[in-house]
Amino acid sequence: MSPHTPQDPRRALVLFSGGQDSTVCLAWALSRYAHVETIGFNYGQRHVIELTCRPVLREAITAQFPQWAGRLGEDHLLDLRVLGQISDTALTDDRKIEMSANGLPNTFVPGRNLIFLSFAAAVAYRRGLSVLVAGMCETDYSGYPDCRDNTLKALQVALSLGMDSPMTLETPLMWLDKAQTWALSNALGGAELNDIIQEHTHSCYLGDRSKRHSWGLGCGQCPACELRQKGHEAWLKNLETP
Ligand code: ZN
Repeated sequence: MSPHTPQDPRRALVLFSGGQDSTVCLAWALSRYAHVETIGFNYGQRHVIELTCRPVLREAITAQFPQWAGRLGEDHLLDLRVLGQISDTALTDDRKIEMSANGLPNTFVPGRNLIFLSFAAAVAYRRGLSVLVAGMCETDYSGYPDCRDNTLKALQVALSLGMDSPMTLETPLMWLDKAQTWALSNALGGAELNDIIQEHTHSCYLGDRSKRHSWGLGCGQCPACELRQKGHEAWLKNLETP
């Protein structure tokens, strides 16, 4: 089998926000499926800067990885700003990000990923795509209940039944910590892919892309920057350990 032959003939849709995790998911899908499309959501994020990273990342990956370029299909951007009407969080207004009594950050939009995945599944159905790839993760960070493996397994069943068509939900990062996520992108696309991720993905909650660090651009202070920094440092440390 030539390296240009995908392992899996199915067609996939990647939930692609322009952040680190979803970019690794995109590379993972491109290394595996015959055809890959991307979907993003504008839900009134306080900083839409992440969305502006998406086409830049798609172009950078296409240019750097010709073996993947032919598999990358359309991009879809859905307007879900209606979510702003049912959430009151730091992502959608100017409140400070803090932890609430139940241990969840106040950026939490209840069930947000269920909504995103349901919209993605409807688009996938119409486009003849049968795999959804998403970057949810139980390991590292969130207490977000809509990121948990059991939640997503249940949703996979519900979507497949509700559309009477098999819809596989793949979450390649589910059991990885942030250091392992860097290791995965390195395994998929080497230093070239990690350079693209470092330079063009956005994590910072404050939308700051003016300060450069070894792990990328961001304020360096907010929880998202801290998490990214820690993960990158841990990855580098793992590399040093024989
Ligand atoms: Zn930040």
